[in-house]
Amino acid sequence: MKECIFCAIASGEVPADVVAEGIDWLAFRDLDPKAPVHVLVIPREHVESLDELESAEDGSALLGACRSVAAAAGVSGGYRVVTNVGRDGGQSVDHLHFHVLGGRQMGWPPG
Ligand code: 5GP
Ligand code: ZN
Repeated sequence: MKECIFCAIASGEVPADVVAEGIDWLAFRDLDPKAPVHVLVIPREHVESLDELESAEDGSALLGACRSVAAAAGVSGGYRVVTNVGRDGGQSVDHLHFHVLGGRQMGWPPG
C-alpha cells in the first residue's frame, strides 16, 4: 500500500484537528472546509472506499459516528453526510471517509 494520508492521521504521525473518536474510528476537521462545519469520519483501519468495507456493522458504526459528530457540532438546521467512491464519485483520498457537512443550506443535485 502506498503512503496514505488518513492512515498517517489515524496513527498520529500527521496532525489533525480531531473532534471525536471511537475505538475503530476517528473524526477530524477537513483541511479545506466546504461548509462552516466540515468533519471527516474515517475507520482507523485502512479501507479504500465504501466498496471495500467488509461488514454492514462497520458501516453502521461509522454512520452512528457521523450522527454524533453532527449532534456535537450543533447543526440544528440539518446536515449532509457524503462518501465519494472512485474517480467518477469524486474521491481524492483513497481511505474511506464520510464527510459531515453543515451550517449552511446545501445545494442539490451535487455538481
Ligand atoms: P474526497 O475528495 O476524497 O471525497 O475528500 C477528501 C477530503 O480530504 C477533501 O475534502 C480534502 O480537503 C481533505 N483532506 C485532504 N488531505 C487532508 C489532510 O491532510 N488533512 C485533512 N484534515 N483533510 C484533508
Ligand atoms: Zn489509509
